[in-house]
Amino acid sequence: MSLRFEAIKHVSHDRTNEPEVKSQKITAIFGESVFNIKTAREFLSDEAYKSLINSIKGSKKIERNVAGQIATGIRAWAETKGVTHFTHWFQPLTGSTAEKHDSFFTLKSDGTAIEEFDGAALIQQEPDASSFPSGGLRATFEARGYTAWDPSSPPFIIEIGNGKTLCVPTIFVSYTGESLDYKAPLMKATEALNKAAVTVCNLFDKNVNKVTPTLGWEQEYFVIDEALVNARPDLVQCGRTVFGAAPAKGQQLEDHYFGSIPERVYAFMRDYENESYKLGIPLRTRHNEVAPAQFECAPIFEEVNIAVDHNILLMDVMTRVAKRHHLVVLLHEKPFAGINGSGKHNNWSLATDTGVNLLAPGKTPKTNLMFLTFFVNTIKAVHDYADILRASIASASNDFRLGANEAPPAIISVFVGEYLTKVLNDVESRVGTKFDEQDEAILKLDLHRSIPELLMDNTDRNRTSPFAFTGNKFEFRAVGSTANCGHPMTILNTIVADTLNKFAAEVEALIEKGDKKEIAIMQVIQKYIVSSKKILFEGDGYSEEWHKEAEKRGLPNLKTTPIALDAMITEKAKKLFKENNIYSHSELEARYEIELEKYIKKVQIEARIMGDLATNHIIPSALKYQNELLKNVSLLREAALPEKLYKGQLALLKDVSTHIQQVYDNVDAMVEERKVANNITNSRDKAIAYEAKVKAQYFDKIRYHVDKLEQLVDDELWTLPKYRELLFLR
Ligand code: ADP
Ligand code: MG
Repeated sequence: MSLRFEAIKHVSHDRTNEPEVKSQKITAIFGESVFNIKTAREFLSDEAYKSLINSIKGSKKIERNVAGQIATGIRAWAETKGVTHFTHWFQPLTGSTAEKHDSFFTLKSDGTAIEEFDGAALIQQEPDASSFPSGGLRATFEARGYTAWDPSSPPFIIEIGNGKTLCVPTIFVSYTGESLDYKAPLMKATEALNKAAVTVCNLFDKNVNKVTPTLGWEQEYFVIDEALVNARPDLVQCGRTVFGAAPAKGQQLEDHYFGSIPERVYAFMRDYENESYKLGIPLRTRHNEVAPAQFECAPIFEEVNIAVDHNILLMDVMTRVAKRHHLVVLLHEKPFAGINGSGKHNNWSLATDTGVNLLAPGKTPKTNLMFLTFFVNTIKAVHDYADILRASIASASNDFRLGANEAPPAIISVFVGEYLTKVLNDVESRVGTKFDEQDEAILKLDLHRSIPELLMDNTDRNRTSPFAFTGNKFEFRAVGSTANCGHPMTILNTIVADTLNKFAAEVEALIEKGDKKEIAIMQVIQKYIVSSKKILFEGDGYSEEWHKEAEKRGLPNLKTTPIALDAMITEKAKKLFKENNIYSHSELEARYEIELEKYIKKVQIEARIMGDLATNHIIPSALKYQNELLKNVSLLREAALPEKLYKGQLALLKDVSTHIQQVYDNVDAMVEERKVANNITNSRDKAIAYEAKVKAQYFDKIRYHVDKLEQLVDDELWTLPKYRELLFLR
């Protein structure tokens, strides 16, 4: 029996070994595996505690000797939980997380065995970094990189089976200080934004000392039975099906959306939620998504640095917990053709240390002017750096999703809703007349009265927008489901920081010339509205008209990753990242190289999988069927039946033979194109060749013929689980 039928049999089996998931009060377990402030208070001396808190709040450096005390406290806590090993936990540019476990156990010079975790081990480690992507920043002979403790994100304990490991969140840098991960730049960008935003806040309120970007992500994913996935080499190896005919029933009834959650998946959700709560991940919502077998979860928003760690951690926890339930989580942006893909909306805002959400309309015209300032600066930032923002979400897997009429287009635009459009138009219409203090335009900023309208505005139309204002935050909706949100958040924070700095300078200049503060602010806001207007779009982002309109407006529509990535290394980008102290030129170029490399490898792997499946699964099944048909036809001929009685079989035989030949021809041709691409040395050219010559030219074509065969060949002979099985059996 083929693996497919084994798997189907397996799914319908009564599972007596399904793990039982306890119902627990969330507050009883929340954060129990995290070395949080409360635990720190309990396990640290006063001196060590104070030093840690100062470092978390003000990013002050921790002295070596105090680090020793902190390390001892952390170990004491971890040992009460049965932890034996520790690791520096970091986020290299591969996209997943990395760990290298060391035990607390050590032998002293006299041979005594003790458990130890000293300050040096907490602060810094030197994993052999040569196998992580560096984009040429480290020659292999100088492969050393080191991880450095990030006190702002608390240590936590990962449980795998009965093993427990203490994980210390760290950044990962090369020996010469260049960042090799997603976190170091994010922290720099967060700091740049803090500085810029505080300066602008102080125009309105001198009490603001710190501004923190906040992030609430929404993670979409598919859940599929493990046995079925194991029978699909493409899902196992690329997380996506490269073949598969559309099932009779897909998502057209939309009966999955907000329907009841299937029981097995429900148990899995509760299980991974419990694990997440222990790790301090504040998950809040769960529901079905539009496509069959697709789901979403979202937490309460947090400071961006923590939120990024929690998302990466969640993806890991989900993947592991799913195994316990004999399920597989697919985080890929487009695991199945013909039904919706998965994204990860990044809800983003700015919070002050005085408790104000800078993107929430305030209660008085004055606070509304502050809101308008941050609102317009964000729009301006997206306008000025749309290409760089687009590049920040470019990946081989997200290419399948962007612009596929279910996800935002690759054109970056901003949706603000009817009400705020009117506010912006009002301010803009005053061009030429100078604002005065009792100005209507300022007084009319009585936005809080209109909050219900504001929120109403943002319910439906914005679903097709890549960057939408949703009442008290912006939602960057083009981020892919597999992405480390640290990268797009680094870019967003940087471009907003840069824009705010320019804004502050322009306002200062006007004030120096004698303008009153509010007037100066209004003048610059007006200027920004005028100059970034073309990025605003309220219509249907999926429509053909928008593509035409966007082209007329001169907005870039970069559909593929190799081209979209160009924006990372333009003079404009180099200047932006250097001036804001995020990436040096060489860091930027290295990152660009890494992204191209990742793209090339991903497409290469998919192309190989296609070839393998075609040769080892599709063609053998189709040939068996072809033989049966041939036998049948020749027997009918022998029996001297008139041909009109087996016209059907003849036509079928012809169709099957045609598609088999097409699969052969196209796979061969694709392999030839791959050889050509592999000989290209320039990585941009190579990525483009993989995109245009290998992927665009052959993937759909091969798939077309394979999917036709799937629909023609005897079901008994077909070895790969079909869409209807993958999506509907559990
Ligand atoms: P929906 O988008 O489904 O209507 P919500 O608007 O309640 O749901 O929130 C979606 C996500 O936005 C949640 O993860 C939530 O935590 C996050 N969010 C809400 N307010 C903020 C904020 N000020 N900053 C960042 N994220 C936020
Ligand atoms: Mg949302």
